[in-house]
Amino acid sequence: MRIHSYELEVFTPPCEPGAERYSAIAHLSISIAEVLPYLNAALAGANYMPSANALTWKRTGHLVAFHADRVAVSNVVDREEAVDELEGMIDLVNRTWDRRSEITPDYQAQKRPSPMAVYQLLPQTNCHACDEATCMGFAFGLIQGNHSVEECSALTADQLVALQLLL
Ligand code: SF4
Repeated sequence: MRIHSYELEVFTPPCEPGAERYSAIAHLSISIAEVLPYLNAALAGANYMPSANALTWKRTGHLVAFHADRVAVSNVVDREEAVDELEGMIDLVNRTWDRRSEITPDYQAQKRPSPMAVYQLLPQTNCHACDEATCMGFAFGLIQGNHSVEECSALTADQLVALQLLL
């Protein structure tokens, strides 16, 4: 299970047409589901979702999402940076797979995010547009399933992606 090739897709997040930052996806021709528990063990701060066969990871200004059939990176400047970032992540997957005999895989999903972790990704302006008195109230509502991220109209594209990954 090594990634040898992929199909690149670079796009502006639909919630922010015309944005100067892009997201990029490497569509894979093989499944990398088996490597996800090893990445979960090896990457500090990774968020593994076994039921979705997905793992997210935040690194140096980018949010990375590993799915069985694709790797996605947010917040890239252009196609060149997208290729650089995705090549780096694909190399990480391949190296982790090659080292799997040295790694104890971690099959545990991350616990539900804390209200503070969610709050830190919100605009923190307490503008009331979501019908909550405060952004912290909205954060609790998101965790409890009483709100959806789309109800906060003040989110930037990156905040939206980050919240979707976190939740
Ligand atoms: S709409 Fe967004 S910014 Fe405004 S209070 Fe709700 S969570 Fe905070």
